[in-house]
Amino acid sequence: MQTRFDLTQADIPRQWYNLLADFPEPLPPPLHPGTKQPIPPEALLAIFPENLVQQEMCPHRHVEIPEEVREIYALWRPTPLLRAVRFEKALQTPAHIYYKYEGASPAGSHKVNTSVAQAYYNKVAGTKRLATETGAGQWGASLALACKLFGLECNVYMVKVSYQQKPYRRMLMHTWGATVHPSPSDQTDYGRKLMAEDPHCQGSLGIAISEAIEDTVKHPDTKYSLGSVLNHVCLHQTVIGLETLRQMEMAGEEPDAIIGCCGGGSNFAGLAFPFLQKKITEKKGYRIVGVEPSACPTLTQGDLRYDFGDTAEMTPLLMMYTLGHKFMPPSIHAGGLRYHGMSPMVSHALKLGLIEAEAYHQTKVFEQATLFARSEGIVPAPESAHAIAAVAEEAVKAREAGRKRVILFNLSGHGLLDLSAYETYLSGKLQDV
Ligand SMILES: *Cc1c(COP(=O)(O)O)cnc(C)c1O
Repeated sequence: MQTRFDLTQADIPRQWYNLLADFPEPLPPPLHPGTKQPIPPEALLAIFPENLVQQEMCPHRHVEIPEEVREIYALWRPTPLLRAVRFEKALQTPAHIYYKYEGASPAGSHKVNTSVAQAYYNKVAGTKRLATETGAGQWGASLALACKLFGLECNVYMVKVSYQQKPYRRMLMHTWGATVHPSPSDQTDYGRKLMAEDPHCQGSLGIAISEAIEDTVKHPDTKYSLGSVLNHVCLHQTVIGLETLRQMEMAGEEPDAIIGCCGGGSNFAGLAFPFLQKKITEKKGYRIVGVEPSACPTLTQGDLRYDFGDTAEMTPLLMMYTLGHKFMPPSIHAGGLRYHGMSPMVSHALKLGLIEAEAYHQTKVFEQATLFARSEGIVPAPESAHAIAAVAEEAVKAREAGRKRVILFNLSGHGLLDLSAYETYLSGKLQDV
């Protein structure tokens, strides 16, 4: 039986898909925090290059993928689609379970799909140096690699607690030539202020974003780069779903349920948006589910309103599901899912009833992730494991109802640099917060 569906280099998509063109209602625009009016594109030029600002507001359904970006994508794309037959067996389910494997990239996750595109657009716009933040280090590592490939300097503010507790992605960033500061740092006014108030401050993603933006506006030829949330990031990630559409055709099946984990929403968007287009325009009945941690339940318990993207209130106001920009998520192992907000596009899709959301506790998540590793071999990233917990629940429901279902999910990254989290789980010490 065929369980692996591969495309060739020539099949790497030539265009990204832009859901903004197909939303039944327009997405509310970002607002200027002072005037509360839609932010003029020029206001974003202080931190982003013009080509990416245009992409952020792009009305076109398809956007050409530059050939230079496609050539770098070919280092790991197209990624495989696999049917998880051994996981199906372990769950004793009649459901067919398929996963798109984004852990096959050099950085181990989907994030390079956008870091490479962003580094490319900055390079052609004349940027010399990029500043960014990273939590557990997946985004920082992805941007470090992309900057190196395009000859840009990369300056990363890494949440201090992760800098100390997760040394391997820091080493990966160094290997790819980036400069890494523990945040809060002594590099910015905001960092120095926080350090003076509390020398033991452990940092947060919101603080690191504020530092990276301050660094950007105070250095020449420097722009800021964000690894999730924004429209252009979701756009770049649609290579995932576009490839998957063709691979599901190769498999001769159509998914009933499409599932992805949600931190800022980009890997979920990447898989789901091309299917959402079919749901909107061809009235397909897909059930599309974003999965988040119960400890940071943005979609399931947050409010839909305008909020800042960062703690220091430097970003434009975005219309999104949010737990409030001062929310400090507890330190669960899925560091990439600890963000107070959610992509405005993903938030809008939820508001319009096009997608659903679920939340899971981390003990349940690691239980299913371990079962997956023991049946399929791949050790999932703790973030991706949230999708797996939801898949397992869906598969068990299919068993109880005696229904054949086709479940598709995004395995956004591998967990080989997160093994200490698995050890905590295996030794019985993992707790829900
Ligand atoms: C960063 C990350 C996530 C969460 O980010 P999204 O923008 O929601 O995709 C999920 N999975 C992995 C492996 C990550 O590195």
